[in-house]
Amino acid sequence: MSWDFSTEPEFEQKLEWMRRFMHDEVYPLEVLDLDERGFMRAIRPLQEEVKRQKLWATHLAPELGGQGYGQVKLGLMHEIEGASVWGPIVFGNQAPDSGNSEILAHFGTDEQKKRWLYPLLDGKIRSAFSMTEPNTAGSDPTLLSTTAELQGDEWVINGHKWFTSNGMIADFLIAMVVTEPEADSYERASMIIVPADAPGLKRLRNIPTLGGEHERFGYGHAEIVYENVRVPSANVLGERGQGFLIAQARLGPGRIHHCMRWLGQARRAFDMLCERALQREAFGKKLASHQTVQNWIADSAAEMQAARLMTLHAAWMIDTQGASAARRDISLIKFFGAKVLHDVIDRAIQIHGSLGFSADLPLEEMYRHARAARIYDGPDEVHRVSVARQILAGYQAPQGMWPREHIPTRREAARRKFAALLEAATTDA
Ligand SMILES: Cc1cc2nc3c(=O)[nH]c(=O)nc-3n(C[C@H](O)[C@H](O)[C@H](O)COP(=O)(O)OP(=O)(O)OC[C@H]3O[C@@H](n4cnc5c(N)ncnc54)[C@H](O)[C@@H]3O)c2cc1C
Repeated sequence: MSWDFSTEPEFEQKLEWMRRFMHDEVYPLEVLDLDERGFMRAIRPLQEEVKRQKLWATHLAPELGGQGYGQVKLGLMHEIEGASVWGPIVFGNQAPDSGNSEILAHFGTDEQKKRWLYPLLDGKIRSAFSMTEPNTAGSDPTLLSTTAELQGDEWVINGHKWFTSNGMIADFLIAMVVTEPEADSYERASMIIVPADAPGLKRLRNIPTLGGEHERFGYGHAEIVYENVRVPSANVLGERGQGFLIAQARLGPGRIHHCMRWLGQARRAFDMLCERALQREAFGKKLASHQTVQNWIADSAAEMQAARLMTLHAAWMIDTQGASAARRDISLIKFFGAKVLHDVIDRAIQIHGSLGFSADLPLEEMYRHARAARIYDGPDEVHRVSVARQILAGYQAPQGMWPREHIPTRREAARRKFAALLEAATTDA
């Protein structure tokens, strides 16, 4: 089997343009004190430039204004734009809008696309994905308790959701709800599009978190009560009972993009780590000359390289064999990549000492966000369980009481196999 993640030189030129553009135009936005209007005004010309470069919303098919790039190319782009929290919005790839636009493009009716998808792609409206509930374990989505009942030609939705990212500012939400209570566990849920002004939709608050996103222009993770929310029956996305199937289509590529964005962040922290090692002196020599610091640098480089190759491999699997063939690889990178991100930022903070702990460097904010990576899109433990299950499915318990490699048992078998040879050797001697 050959593995090939190579991309053509013309694409490398686009990546090079993105690197320069991020560095010159997007990074400076991070440190400006702007309100949302000022920020949107500042990024509009940047978004226009991205469109001119044909790099806008590249996750979509060409007929929707994307480039139809596969996951390897998208991953390489996300690595660059993910280095700054503002990269994705400038490139039209920000979550949860990017994932929502993908499922609308794949599963939406013409009417749904007209009303929700095209304005979303134009950046005129915003969206949220509303699945997790405070009263059931998000790790086991078969426990979902929010219901939607068809009454006449309307769905009536009741339930309590939270951590709906951008829920407070979204123009519509895609809610994951139980519509088929009697069906098998993975066929009970459907996705329903809920406009923000639907009667009965109560957006309670942005939940204060370690990430602090609620402080930024009202973005954040919302707590929402659906109390007899009424939406037209035509608002179901895809088929009834297909909620989990659609969620899988959304999550596979989305996890590649997350992991590559994390690598962009990790790389930025790594650069800070190396630069500080060369800048600061303690105990008569540069920090870079202390062996512990050298270990941090070498370990970080190895871990980032491993995560990058694993992620590109998973992306290549999706491109060549489809998302379901890549399930194991996607779970591997989800928990492995989150740990690499955390550990590299942690070392970068450590080498900067009190400066690293301060908000005078971007590391403290990166660290707070990195912690969430171990939880959203499935906690580490769930992905580990999934990987282990899939691997174990390829094994069988050895017969009898000893492990297959038990040396005395193997020796006995080898003696039987080579009995003639052993006897000849003894006779010759
Ligand atoms: C920053 C952020 C953004 C988010 N955005 C959204 C969003 O936009 N929309 C949305 O619907 N949700 C969102 N979420 C919610 C997220 O998807 C859930 O938090 C996640 O699925 C876990 O569900 P839970 O919080 O209910 O944890 P629980 O399911 O209660 O799990 C708690 C812990 O139990 C342990 N655990 C669970 N299963 C196992 C197991 N099999 N083996 C061992 N240990 C286990 C894990 O340590 C896990 O962390 C977001 C979360 C965060 C932090």
